[in-house]
Amino acid sequence: TGINFDVYDDIPVETSGRDVPLEIRTFEECNPPLPAALYDNIRRCGYTKPTPVQRYALPIGIAGRDLMACAQTGSGKTAAFCFPIVASMLLVGYQPQGRGSRKAMPFSLILAPTRELTSQIHEEARKFCFRTGIKPVVIYGGAPVVNQLRELERGCDILVATPGRLSDLIERGRIGLSGVRFLCLDEADRMLDMGFEPQIRRIVEQEDMMPAGQRQTLMFSATFPKEIQRLAGDFLANYVFLTVGRVGS
Ligand code: ADP
Ligand code: MG
Repeated sequence: TGINFDVYDDIPVETSGRDVPLEIRTFEECNPPLPAALYDNIRRCGYTKPTPVQRYALPIGIAGRDLMACAQTGSGKTAAFCFPIVASMLLVGYQPQGRGSRKAMPFSLILAPTRELTSQIHEEARKFCFRTGIKPVVIYGGAPVVNQLRELERGCDILVATPGRLSDLIERGRIGLSGVRFLCLDEADRMLDMGFEPQIRRIVEQEDMMPAGQRQTLMFSATFPKEIQRLAGDFLANYVFLTVGRVGS
């Protein structure tokens, strides 16, 4: 596991969009700088320099821009969206929700297709949130809902979810999305392959969800077929388009 930087040095990267923020070579070059707590956690994870997708996605995310990023598996996408999420929560002085609420109202929402992927993102997010007070929670189908509800009641600032379980708990009134300022769709192409498009649209286009342009939205996908292009057009505002490596459609 881990990143083989040698194979990355001459990887082709393309960006398009209006006023694309400049890429970084080191984590120290972020502007505004990464909050100290996050920076410490990055070091604790042993990350010494950003991967190509991170070099471009971090300044874009931290500048508050929407992003459509296409990059292969294993390129470091999790940190590419988690760092801007955690950084912006800390920079705006976000106050963690704390325990005791029957209805979870996350500030950030990350959607991914499977139990395995949401669990991995949750594990990474926990490391990046260490000592920040920000609490990530994961929910997915095929597992008892009681434990997940208990975690939600302990406070939920970043919610990592599969579309099915999320829809279910929204319907039960246990999760509300009116506070979501930061939305991320990871492995968007796989979510569509698995037939989640109607559910995702119902979630993102529901009335109490902040519209594109008022929230910040990041989308990640390995491929860029027509359906993803349409979704990006509907979910993103004034976005930067980023491709790392060769991407099929
Ligand atoms: P992807 O989502 O693109 O498939 P991941 O985010 O799962 O990739 O990252 C792949 C692996 O690389 C993980 O083990 C992760 O911890 C590691 N990794 C990510 N970014 C860095 C970095 N900047 N330096 C070292 N390792 C990294
Ligand atoms: Mg991933």
